[in-house]
Amino acid sequence: MRPGAPEPVSLASGALRAAVLTPLAAGGLLALDDGVVRFAGGRIASVAPAGAGDGDAVDLGESLLVPGFVDAHVHLPQFRVRGRFAGALLPWLREHIWPEEAAYGDPGVVAEATVEFASALLSRGTVAAMVMSSPHAGSASHLLRHPAFEGGAGPAWMDRNGPEALVRPTAAALADLAREAATFGARYAVSPRFAPTSSGEFLAGAGRIAREHGCFVHTHLSENPDEVEWVRSLYPEAASYADVYERAGLLGPKTLLAHVIHCTDAELDLLAARRCVAVHCPSSNEALGSGRMPLPRLREKGVRVAMGSDVGAGPCLSMLDVMRVFREVQAGHADTRPGEALRMATLEGARALGLEGRLGSLEPGREATFVALRLPAGGGRDPEGGLEAAMDAGRGRYGEGVAGVWVRGERRVPAPPPNP
Ligand SMILES: [Zn+2]
Repeated sequence: MRPGAPEPVSLASGALRAAVLTPLAAGGLLALDDGVVRFAGGRIASVAPAGAGDGDAVDLGESLLVPGFVDAHVHLPQFRVRGRFAGALLPWLREHIWPEEAAYGDPGVVAEATVEFASALLSRGTVAAMVMSSPHAGSASHLLRHPAFEGGAGPAWMDRNGPEALVRPTAAALADLAREAATFGARYAVSPRFAPTSSGEFLAGAGRIAREHGCFVHTHLSENPDEVEWVRSLYPEAASYADVYERAGLLGPKTLLAHVIHCTDAELDLLAARRCVAVHCPSSNEALGSGRMPLPRLREKGVRVAMGSDVGAGPCLSMLDVMRVFREVQAGHADTRPGEALRMATLEGARALGLEGRLGSLEPGREATFVALRLPAGGGRDPEGGLEAAMDAGRGRYGEGVAGVWVRGERRVPAPPPNP
């Protein structure tokens, strides 16, 4: 640095000392109770136990460094009413959520809410997400153009069985969808809200458009028994709920399906064969009484699984809170060790979003994008115990437990002081 030059705000190159916990792409976990993460040019150079040569590292004290979180299923226009209402899925949608989403037909509301939402994600340590916006053309465009947003997004299209303010005629919805998919390409998520509010013609068109432009497909599958029954009556020709999407050509390795709770073995075999991602949203499932995802069955069948907040049915945008509820809900049924919850909320999410080479684990060559969690004072630096404490600290609150967030080596949360 030149003599007299101001201290650089950017930490694009540097070294941080703290406890470290990360899943590894090759399998297993790396846990260091006193580690140093070195990064240069925004990428991780090394992760190793602290040693004699690490005097230059910035000591974060009682902190735990973990990879940035990935929220694989969240609704932008439900952020402001998150956790405010409950009830079962279908009445909850009709009475509370659809009226709220109708306000997002106003582009001014979308623009303002998008800025608020993107900053809320980051402040909770979520560095990438798969987002459903309101069922209006253009409702995801601000987010897809937001400089800090990573992941995919698209409007929750509806062409039947909803309020007038949200339902688009099939041909108009497909024309909007085709235009947006052509504009945003691979990051765009073709997102029929779910089968009950979609005609077969719309789903088939959406499948064609997604394939043509290499887009994500993002929708809901089998969240609630009444919903499953409704789909059976609307699509009597389909073998199952999952088969409705299969017939429309919507199932593939870039398809993210939220919930997957009440599926048959044949449906799980189909999801595994198509390499789809099932997104587990335990805090949402608790809030709406939807049931528990049969995670061991999905694992046994080889279905890929990521984790999502499903805000606003999920009450909290913090993935720490989602991980905490995951461990409560799946205790006695699946592997719920803190490190396993972390793997689902980071590496598996990054894989689902096609970001594995950049995000999801703290390993050399990946982006220096990570979260420092506050460890309990005097509790030492045991990584898995510390993660568990951080999850508890986040209970029902927002941003608690997160001491800092770095993106490509630059500290973003708390925001750095303005450069003098
Ligand atoms: Zn959802």
